[in-house]
Amino acid sequence: ESNEKKSKQALHKKGECKPAVFIPVDRLPEIQEARLKLPVLAEEQVIMEAVRENESVVLCGETGSGKTTQVPQFLYEAGYASAGRIIGVTEPRRVAAVSMSRRVAKEMNLSTGVVSYQIRYEGNVTQDTKIKFMTDGVLLKEIQRDFLLQKYSVIIIDEAHERSVYTDILIGLLSRIVPLRNRKGLPMKLLIMSATLRVEDFTENKRLFRTPPPVISVEARQFPVSVHFNKQTPMDDYTGEAFRKTCKIHRMLPPGGILVFLTGQAEVHTLCRRLRKAFPYRASSQTGKYQDAEDPSEELRKSKKAKKKKFVSLPRIDLDNYSALPVDEGDEDRQAGIDDDSDEGSDLDLDLGDNPDDTGQKRVFDGYADPSIPLYVLPLYSLLAPEQQAKVFRPPPPGARLCVVATNVAETSLTIPGVKYVVDCGRVKKRFYDRVTGVSSFKVTWISQASANQRAGRAGRTESGHCYRLYSSAVFGDFSLFSEAEITRRPVDDLVLQMKDLNIEKVVNFPFPTPPSSEALVAAEQLLVSLGALEEPPRQGRMVDQKRARLSCPITPLGRAMAAFPVSPRYAKMLALGRQQGCMPYIITIVAAMTVREIFEELDRPASSEEESSKQASRKARFSQMRRLWAGQGQSLLLGDLMVMLGAVGACEFAGCTSAFCEENGLRYKAMLEIRRLRGQLTNAVNAVCSDAAVCVDGKMAPPTESQVVCLRQIVLAGLGDHLARRVQAEELLDPKWRNGYKTPLLDEPVFIHPSSALHKTLPEFVVYQEVMETTKMYMKGVCAVQADWIPKLLPQYCHFSGPEQNPAPWYCPLSGKVKCQQQSTFFRVAWKLPAIEM
Ligand code: ADP
Ligand code: MG
Repeated sequence: ESNEKKSKQALHKKGECKPAVFIPVDRLPEIQEARLKLPVLAEEQVIMEAVRENESVVLCGETGSGKTTQVPQFLYEAGYASAGRIIGVTEPRRVAAVSMSRRVAKEMNLSTGVVSYQIRYEGNVTQDTKIKFMTDGVLLKEIQRDFLLQKYSVIIIDEAHERSVYTDILIGLLSRIVPLRNRKGLPMKLLIMSATLRVEDFTENKRLFRTPPPVISVEARQFPVSVHFNKQTPMDDYTGEAFRKTCKIHRMLPPGGILVFLTGQAEVHTLCRRLRKAFPYRASSQTGKYQDAEDPSEELRKSKKAKKKKFVSLPRIDLDNYSALPVDEGDEDRQAGIDDDSDEGSDLDLDLGDNPDDTGQKRVFDGYADPSIPLYVLPLYSLLAPEQQAKVFRPPPPGARLCVVATNVAETSLTIPGVKYVVDCGRVKKRFYDRVTGVSSFKVTWISQASANQRAGRAGRTESGHCYRLYSSAVFGDFSLFSEAEITRRPVDDLVLQMKDLNIEKVVNFPFPTPPSSEALVAAEQLLVSLGALEEPPRQGRMVDQKRARLSCPITPLGRAMAAFPVSPRYAKMLALGRQQGCMPYIITIVAAMTVREIFEELDRPASSEEESSKQASRKARFSQMRRLWAGQGQSLLLGDLMVMLGAVGACEFAGCTSAFCEENGLRYKAMLEIRRLRGQLTNAVNAVCSDAAVCVDGKMAPPTESQVVCLRQIVLAGLGDHLARRVQAEELLDPKWRNGYKTPLLDEPVFIHPSSALHKTLPEFVVYQEVMETTKMYMKGVCAVQADWIPKLLPQYCHFSGPEQNPAPWYCPLSGKVKCQQQSTFFRVAWKLPAIEM
């Protein structure tokens, strides 16, 4: 009889357990034994008492102390999942929602129909579900349907220290929902769980909680970890440095698992491949299915059998198989970036060794690698299939050393047993937003000191350990102390749209744990109004009222449609309009391609030798020729750079999306794979919203027809309307620097069409662009020509109509049929004439 059960029963007898139920759980003995070792078990009584006596409670405890797996069980046993209500747990990452629901089901000896998960397009929730793990985005959508969240008796917000935007919003919303529920006699509890003690934003925030919630901290058992800094800090090749360090650890140090932190999926695979190659023991066991082998010990057995066989090089890991990846969900990144996990950005070309014949490192290790100690190498990142992820929790094959190469999912969300050595590259892949263009990108940056310490801590869970930092202590000293809340470092237009969709009209008054700046909120509302997602504020009335109205515009039906797509509002608008004339597959492809940075190889790579440079020149000629071909003629040429993207993706898919095709035609293979994945994801999103759309993007699509191209250009204009530019006319040329320049509403300087653009020679009068990049000049990227007469219809808010009302010209738009509009208007304070349109 365990102490835990006894004390609980004693409590129960004294009648202190409210709700007065104790639901027994029939755990397996080995599970029971393991959980009794978890620090959080010692605090069960304290936690449950605090939950009983307070509406909201904050629980802090080191990663691995048992918060995620145990606290839902405490609540279940105390009867929180009875009387028709259930326990909800939110996670910022899909990985955690799926794997934790499975783990808890297993620990409680219950089916996954009782302990279930729900992520955006996937889940196993049933009528019998008692504990539901979900991503924070899913709960946010549920609040939209039922503001009081009546089916829940308690909500646990897990990983609150990550400060993901959705977690922050949920906490803000729940700070209002919980008291409301209690006032209505439908009691509800909120439990915020954090891996760090830095919770003042939640507890000291008077707007959030009137009485600060109690903070319970769980003391974790932590063995000492010695931290070793590198003397030097590799600026680029940290993947190579991680490889060298891992090999060294494996060769020289006593048994114990190795956990390597890198920044993204591509790097993780590169390092896994190199490590498997450097310690090829396992390679001989491979029958082309390293990733899919079920049981590691089974694999090892097979490998022993096959030991005598000649070494065969490992097959490339099947990155192509995007349909096998879990369908994208939309946690932290669902708005602005499509990408669902910050560990999963459009990858940067920082890795080497992509080439399986890269033997540069192997030479060094050939003499040392002891083939009798296998290195059992496993990747771990958010998009990895759950069965693959589950492998890291199982013991490695007997005698083998576990080596997990992970993104920062392993920092706090998942605890890998048996890790004694941590190799930390000190970087993380994060989303960045360009305030001028509003386009997001992924960049690799330094982590915070708090993150570095979290990572180091992973080495001391089971015994004392070592952490190897691939950077110097001086560099560490320059790290920021903590990571900032995500909400403060990005524009909030997507967020404002989501909140309006939740019918929160006055976003400024929302109790954010960390509020975004009011300028950011105003800018967001303005953009959304201009996109037609929010209603236009009144222009009449007192100034103060006008100002107030500008910050509380209600959402429009178009806005609701846009809110359903996991991309930033400009692109969401394109998707919302994409059903015209069968354009949806093309719009999906264009949006996917614009979201992935740099799908083309650089044309002007510096050459190192004479021979190299002539080779370069012929490559360049071929690439340019391909781009011209993809751009096409006539109408399609006017779709400009977007047509080139469309053509490139189309051609690549017809060729089966091989790396050889990409290499030959100047496309970045990784970008093409990424686009493929995004297209699948966006297609699901579109199909989920409009049941009648039933868009099917198979890889191959026919080129758009002429009339479809016209339609595509209008849709693009409607989405990128605030990125409109007009060529400076000869009579306006006051300064020679404006020659061939374009005027934009955002910049005082002229912007130009880049020589590599499809429209460089055409120089259309009006264009929209994806973004402006400053190099030798301000160049527009992703340029598409638009027709002047579309502008007043699609973007009336950017036009000042000044001409006589009489004599309106009929105007035809495939988006909405025949319309009429004024003949003359002003654009950016410069009068322009609408051309006469033939009907
Ligand atoms: P916390 O949420 O406080 O970080 P968890 O509840 O996630 O802690 O983990 C508690 C313990 O359970 C850890 O030691 C971890 O290794 C173990 N654990 C979690 N998930 C699994 C799993 N799927 N298989 C085996 N052990 C697991
Ligand atoms: Mg946890």
